[in-house]
Order: sequence, then structure tokens, then C-alpha cells
Amino acid sequence: MNNNIESILEKPVLNKQDLLFLLQSQGEARHKLFAKAAEIKRQYVGNYVYFRGLIEYSNICSKNCYYCGIRSSNIKMERYWLTEQEVLNAAQFAYKEGYASLVLQSGEVNTPQFTAKIEALLQQIGQLTDHKMGITLSLGEQSRDTYLQWRKAGARRYLLRIETSNPELYGKIHPQDSKHNYNQRLNAIKLLRETGYQVGTGVMIGLPFQTLDDLADDLLFFRDYDIDMAGMGPYIEHEDTPLYSCKSILMPLTERFDLSLKMVAILRIMMKDINIAATTAMQTIDKIGREKALKVGANVMMPNLTPVKYRENYLLYQNKPCIDEEAVQCKNCMEIRVHLAGDTIAYGEWGDSLHFRKRVENCEP
Ligand code: SAH
Ligand code: SF4
Repeated sequence: MNNNIESILEKPVLNKQDLLFLLQSQGEARHKLFAKAAEIKRQYVGNYVYFRGLIEYSNICSKNCYYCGIRSSNIKMERYWLTEQEVLNAAQFAYKEGYASLVLQSGEVNTPQFTAKIEALLQQIGQLTDHKMGITLSLGEQSRDTYLQWRKAGARRYLLRIETSNPELYGKIHPQDSKHNYNQRLNAIKLLRETGYQVGTGVMIGLPFQTLDDLADDLLFFRDYDIDMAGMGPYIEHEDTPLYSCKSILMPLTERFDLSLKMVAILRIMMKDINIAATTAMQTIDKIGREKALKVGANVMMPNLTPVKYRENYLLYQNKPCIDEEAVQCKNCMEIRVHLAGDTIAYGEWGDSLHFRKRVENCEP
């Protein structure tokens, strides 16, 4: 068993069998997997953590994903937009604190008004911060023109999770209509690549009906699509969603968490120079979940900058942590945590994905 793990961890390219072996590793083998991932992180991206200030811009969403607490059919919460000033205040805070990067996230809205509003916000944030902030968007599937428009207005990175790379499973966790189509989601990821973004994607781990085979395929998907950034985390049920009815067939939360850690570690070994987020969902299950993710390969954290009064209305899943902490507290708490994990916060640095930089440089004539 131990010989096996060692030979697998030395392989230059992991195949599906290897991935399945690693996903199932326990005891000494699991320990070796994590140690290898930590070593690769240190060697290739260093023991640094890049902060992205997260602004949850709006919980208004035109979609109805079966797992998500802010799906359009959930009438149990108040819908909100942040005001322009609230977004700019958050950006200003991030800039002053040296975060050097922001993520603007919201439900999916596909109207010309929304496109124009985001464009204007991007321009305003650019002016306010001397164009020194790396801005990431996470605003769902949009047209090629919209992606281009936002790119020109200053956005550099985009997060769009594929959620699962298995089209059949995708069909089970989304309504069957043209707004929730696997191929369309995949196409949007391709459009992001074509329009010049650093592309981030990811999956939920521990979904009902999901198998280890699916997770191994997700890792291969990330490699095939040559992604620049990844954000993965455990699926956490929300009682006001249709998928809650599958609660009884879910694996325990601790197992979902352990699998999430393994996914982070394996991906770090497979794609050595990409950015990998230590996600908030990991902290929901384990109080020091994000720090554990940092120890096994993650190198990005997203302190929440959304004004506290909105946070209880942006519950994608239940028991989301830190919903009562203002940005300043959140920052202090994260600093301590990162330090405990043995990493240093890279203040003032954009923290572009090294993978992206190499990809672009290689394309230059
Ligand atoms: N509307 C955008 C961005 C906001 S949702 C989009 O869908 O891309 C951001 C992410 O939250 C989703 O991609 C999904 O992976 C995650 N999410 C939603 N509900 C969740 C749940 N119940 N458990 C864990 N993650 C969830
Ligand atoms: Fe909307 Fe995103 Fe939630 Fe789906 S996951 S319902 S698109 S916010």
C-alpha cells in the first residue's frame, strides 16, 4: 500500500486509477498525499496566501439551481442590491488594506441594465483604486459580448464553476430547461477563456448521486481545460431547496470535508502553479477548515467585505460562517488563521495565477 502511494505520488502524470486511489487513501497514505501537496505548494507557488475581498453584490437570481439557497423560487428571504456607494466603500477598504484584489459575486442576471451597471462599477472601482486592484467577477453565464464588455472595463478574472463535470449529474441537480444546460455552462467557460480572462472553475463535493468516479473525472476535467484557478468545496444542504429532500442519502459532513481536502491536495499535485481557493464552505464544516485547506495546497482566501446587514440574505447554504463579522474583524481573524497555518499573506500583490501568466507568455510571438 505504502509503496503504491509513493510510486503514484512520483508519477509525472496521474491517470484515473491513480486519482481514485488517492481519493480513497486513509491513514499513512492520506498523510503522504497531504505532505506531497504541501511540498509542491511551497516549491511552486510558495507559502503565500492571496486575499480576494468578496463583495456579495446581490442575491437576485434568475436561476433556480436545486441546491442553492438564493434560487429564484425561494421566497423566504429579502432580495437586495448593494448600493453603488456600498460597493465602492468595500473596494476602498480592500485597497487601503492591501488586498489588491476583489471578487464581485451575485446571482445571475442577464439584462442590459445589469451589464451596464457592472461595467460602470468596474470603471468606478478602477478609478478609485488607481487601477491597481485585480478584479474577479463571479456573475454566472453571460454572452460573449457581455464578457468582453466587462473585460474591457477592467475585470481580469472570472469564476464560473462547472458544479460537476458529469452531464447526467448536472441534469439531476438543476431544472431541465434551457437556462440550466450543461453544454451552455461549458460553453460559457470556453467564452471566458477566449475573451482573455484568467478562468476559474470548480465543483461541489459530496452532492447526492455523486460518486468517487465523478470526482476523479472532475480533476481530469480541470486538467483538460487547463484552468488557471479552482474553487471547490463541500456541498452543504439548505432546507429551502429541492435537493434538501435527498438529505438522507448524503455522506456525513465530515466525509464531505475530508474529500474536499483530498481534492485540493490532488489538484495541487496535478496542476502545480494554479491558484486554489480555501473556500468558505470548508470552514462551515470545520472551524479551521480553510486553514487545513491552506496546509494541503490552497493559496487563496476570500475575506467577506459584504456589509453585515445583507449577509443573512446571501446564504447559498446553511450555517455559513462569519455572517455577523464586519470586514475589519474578518481581516483580523483571517490574519491569525493564516499565520497559524504557516503561511504569509501577500499584501499588495495581485497574485495572478502563475499558470495563466505562463500560458499567456507562451502565446506571445
Ligand atoms: N450565480 C453565480 C455565482 C454565485 S453562486 C454562479 O452560480 O456561478 C456561487 C457558487 O456557490 C456556485 O457556483 C455553487 O458551486 C456554490 N453553491 C451554491 N449552493 C451551494 C450549496 N448548497 N453548497 C455548497 N456550495 C453551493
Ligand atoms: Fe443563482 Fe448561482 Fe445560486 Fe444557481 S448557484 S441559483 S445561478 S446564485
